[in-house]
Amino acid sequence: MPMPSDVPHYAIALGANRVGLHGGPSATLAAALAEIGGVIIASPVAVTAPVGPSIRRFANQVAIIASDEAPPVLLSRLKAIEAAFGRRRGQRWGARVIDLDIILWSQGAWASPGLTVPHAAFRDRMFVLGPLAAVAPDWRDPVTGLCIRHLRARRARHLPLMPC
Ligand code: ATP
Ligand code: CA
Ligand code: CA
Repeated sequence: MPMPSDVPHYAIALGANRVGLHGGPSATLAAALAEIGGVIIASPVAVTAPVGPSIRRFANQVAIIASDEAPPVLLSRLKAIEAAFGRRRGQRWGARVIDLDIILWSQGAWASPGLTVPHAAFRDRMFVLGPLAAVAPDWRDPVTGLCIRHLRARRARHLPLMPC
């Protein structure tokens, strides 16, 4: 799908696995997208087995948003939304109402204390690569030089690195 090239955009990964103020995981994801705003396209919601100690299943989604915010500004806004949705700190890997991660930024890579973009682990995570490939298969990861479609294929089938 063509992206507007004049407005910077982000790929945001959303995850939810417990009931919060807005209802169950799918309702939580929809409410979070409305709160984030600027949504160009959102993937279907994927329900996947949890990673780590949580016994619940996760609902995951990726959205492409238009935003001219700098990455730390967007991250603090996402954290405020997480808090407003009822997420408590100390829930890493466990049950949490909502998790909002910055996966990619159209302007390239970013690193500052507490923020790394592209997200350090997204290439290993099918629950991110699957929904991301549904909305931005041709987006090129600035770190590996591989596009999302090929990162996903490599992760799914252990293919060797190949250029797009
Ligand atoms: P993971 O980052 O492995 O998916 P998590 O999302 O469960 O784990 P959190 O507790 O939500 O972890 O976040 C831990 C910290 O990660 C945040 O406080 C944030 O400062 C930092 N962080 C670094 N890079 C990013 C990024 N690209 N998106 C969101 N948070 C990030
Ligand atoms: Ca996460
Ligand atoms: Ca997070």
